[in-house]
Amino acid sequence: MSTVSACLTCGACCASYRVSFYWGEATGAPNGYVPSELTENFHPHLLCMQGTNQAEPRCVALEGEIGQRVGCRIYADRPSPCREFAAGDEEANPYCDKARAKYGLAPLIPVKNVA
Ligand code: SF4
Ligand code: SF4
Repeated sequence: MSTVSACLTCGACCASYRVSFYWGEATGAPNGYVPSELTENFHPHLLCMQGTNQAEPRCVALEGEIGQRVGCRIYADRPSPCREFAAGDEEANPYCDKARAKYGLAPLIPVKNVA
């Protein structure tokens, strides 16, 4: 999920994929910022957001109703995969399109491609 407004009425990616990242990003590490209590071990060197390593993922930090109004309750401290995931209206991202389609939402068009 990014800062752009389309994400605030979506949230699909937060309930579609496993969100895993290096353990050093979490508060259990000296310079970590992602709340460790919202993570779980995934791999010897990786954590994931709770709720995302399951058949029907939904990140524990996601609030609201997908496709209506959502928010990330750790937005300022979200892990790197969330920061790097581009919304489809920022740039083409088939993973954004795929997540939105799962929840019946149309793909977004990159703003630069809109006439
Ligand atoms: S699926 Fe795309 S539009 Fe929806 S919240 Fe994620 S990045 Fe934003
Ligand atoms: S941490 Fe926030 S942005 Fe990342 S998957 Fe969870 S709810 Fe979405």
